[in-house]
Amino acid sequence: MKKCNEIGYINKIDTYSTLDGGGIRSVVFLQGCNLRCVCCHNPETWEGGNVQRLTAIELYDKLKTYKSYYGVDGGITFSGGEPLLQKDFLLAAVEVFKKNDINSIVETSANIEIDDTIIQIVKNLDYVICDLKYPDNDMYCRYTLGSLDRTLAFLDLCKGLKKKVWIRTVVIPDINDNEKILARYQKIIRKYPNIFKWELLPFSKLGFGKYEELKIKNPLKGIVDIDNEKFEKLQEKFEFEKAK
Ligand code: SF4
Repeated sequence: MKKCNEIGYINKIDTYSTLDGGGIRSVVFLQGCNLRCVCCHNPETWEGGNVQRLTAIELYDKLKTYKSYYGVDGGITFSGGEPLLQKDFLLAAVEVFKKNDINSIVETSANIEIDDTIIQIVKNLDYVICDLKYPDNDMYCRYTLGSLDRTLAFLDLCKGLKKKVWIRTVVIPDINDNEKILARYQKIIRKYPNIFKWELLPFSKLGFGKYEELKIKNPLKGIVDIDNEKFEKLQEKFEFEKAK
């Protein structure tokens, strides 16, 4: 095990969730993200703030009591923020949970440099949830501080390691809510046989109050609501799930 005294900076822990990965899971939201997505509903995880500081062992001690709830499908989800930015802590944490027969997954936007630590993290995961935000670098650049190239490099890594991937895409009114654009995501996804699920999520204004509280400019203030009927049709046409 590497760097087991590394401190993790944690925004919050949701001990019981059925939303972030399969089965019953505890979700650990790590602090810090450099992507600044216009559609972000967790801007409180970007930087600073009141965080819990825990080592991997302390985190395991906090969550081990829930092990019987997780069953075969559940476990720990590391989300954020961008969990892979705290790679040394994350590697120590996924190793501790694995050693104690608890599965871990990571929900990431994968806009990170790939190195040995990232490779070891991926190897220790049950599977990965990867946000595929936009289908080209121009859109990535317009709506985030990241790039599609980095996400693709991470997907290539997962493919090489035969690690299963669940893709999530937020559908945003007047940005990517049409078949023509989603077909471009589909073209990318079809290159990866290790992708077992593509899930579309409707853009939500639920996080808007946080921007006001934090006094951060909200780039999508004034955006129209998602058209539910249109969104359901997109789900029918593009979403899929196959056996892992
Ligand atoms: S990657 Fe996630 S946490 Fe970071 S800005 Fe984008 S939506 Fe927000």
